[in-house]
Amino acid sequence: MAVPFRKTSKAVKRKRRTHFKLSLPGMVACPNCNESKLAHHICKSCGYYKGKEVMSK
Ligand SMILES: [Zn+2]
Repeated sequence: MAVPFRKTSKAVKRKRRTHFKLSLPGMVACPNCNESKLAHHICKSCGYYKGKEVMSK
């Protein structure tokens, strides 16, 4: 079985991991109230989805 020739140094490991970051998934601005909301979900602050009110407060 192939084995790495050298141990990956701490600096190399940390540089590689700079690309592993958490990001907020699918957040978009609501076209009705401009709050950030999840894409393809109703807006929690105004209850709108696809230009209509689908949930009243
Ligand atoms: Zn909204």
